[in-house]
Amino acid sequence: MSKIVVLGAGVSGLTSALCLYEEFPERIQDLTIVASEFVGDYHAHDFTSPWAGANWASFAKIDDFEQIERDKAAYLKFLQLSKTDPSSGVKPYMLKFCFLKEKGLPWYIQQKFVKNIAMLSDEELRFRNLDPALYYGVEFQSFTVTPTVYNTYMLAKLRKLGAKIKRVARLDLITDVVALLGYVPDLVVNATGINAGKLLRLEEPAELEKLHPVKGQIVQIYEDLPFQVMVEGLPKELNAQSGQFLNIFPRAEGGCIVGGIMAKGDWSNTVNKELNESILKVCRYHVPELKATTVYNSYVALRPGRQGGVRIEFSEYRLGGQSQTLKVVHNYGIGGAGYQSSYGSARQVCELASQVLGRRKTSSKL
Ligand SMILES: Cc1cc2nc3c(=O)[nH]c(=O)nc-3n(C[C@H](O)[C@H](O)[C@H](O)COP(=O)(O)OP(=O)(O)OC[C@H]3O[C@@H](n4cnc5c(N)ncnc54)[C@H](O)[C@@H]3O)c2cc1C
Repeated sequence: MSKIVVLGAGVSGLTSALCLYEEFPERIQDLTIVASEFVGDYHAHDFTSPWAGANWASFAKIDDFEQIERDKAAYLKFLQLSKTDPSSGVKPYMLKFCFLKEKGLPWYIQQKFVKNIAMLSDEELRFRNLDPALYYGVEFQSFTVTPTVYNTYMLAKLRKLGAKIKRVARLDLITDVVALLGYVPDLVVNATGINAGKLLRLEEPAELEKLHPVKGQIVQIYEDLPFQVMVEGLPKELNAQSGQFLNIFPRAEGGCIVGGIMAKGDWSNTVNKELNESILKVCRYHVPELKATTVYNSYVALRPGRQGGVRIEFSEYRLGGQSQTLKVVHNYGIGGAGYQSSYGSARQVCELASQVLGRRKTSSKL
């Protein structure tokens, strides 16, 4: 029987904790989720999970087999949740995704992985002010996840399974978890997002360099839309900013989130008013169905970017004055894909955790 600490209560930490309960039901004596921020907290733009879109549209390149597997697992989980458990906040929507032809079709269309695939007609592309000679449009079944609903749902499941929940001030170093608890846990899952580099700066200084923010900006509107729209490679006549694109995702409870931008390296917490105007202009241009865009909120948040992609890895750190080591499975640095790859990442966490916890149960009941 093992004592586990999951450090971080964003989508990566919560999903990892749920999968650990599922795969090691007889091996867990105690699982504590330790974090400085939890679902319901909106004071920190570097606690990313509350601010996500969040939809499923895998960014994985066709030859990035590991990321594809992670994204496939989450798609299948969202499919199941959307059918069996609407209280999860996961709702199915068709996504109309338009992008430059030179980019090629994404892996999930080429492999016919996603449900209900169709190509958008030239007529529809023209209706969306896109030149059919330059752009592809594909349509498929995606999902919108309302982050607060979904993370509350996961936290409630974890409490039922016996998890302890502990809010702390931000830890300085990952090894501080030992003094905090008063014992050396058998396993720590490090799901601290963009702040993981700071926590590891003594043990692995290179991680501090590798982690970087990718700032996003979102406008929230009251109007509904019966489908999602994404446009990448915005037409020149829109004078969009560098890294700008269009994402419009309706939410299960009504209204839409409209984005966005990927601003790499920008740690700032300020909403750019001009960008808000541009986001709405792009939205109206490509989504003529929206007769009005009534804004009720806008915000920024930082995606946890990492050079080389997400880190899902096992590490062992020495502890001063102790014979034991701190065994850690990392799950951080997923950038803009934390929801859409959550289940695949968590499954990998379990695979690595089996070095400490022993054999896994393979069935999936969560
Ligand atoms: C605008 C925007 C749109 C997005 N849209 C999508 C989308 O459509 N689909 C998608 O899949 N993803 C999307 N994302 C990305 C997604 O939100 C992130 O990938 C995901 O939330 C990362 O979750 P995480 O759990 O790894 O990190 P976080 O949510 O940042 O969680 C980190 C946790 O660690 C804790 N922590 C950190 N440091 C410490 C410390 N020192 N001591 C104690 N606790 C600590 C925090 O309190 C928190 O609980 C979007 C992101 C943004 C900003």
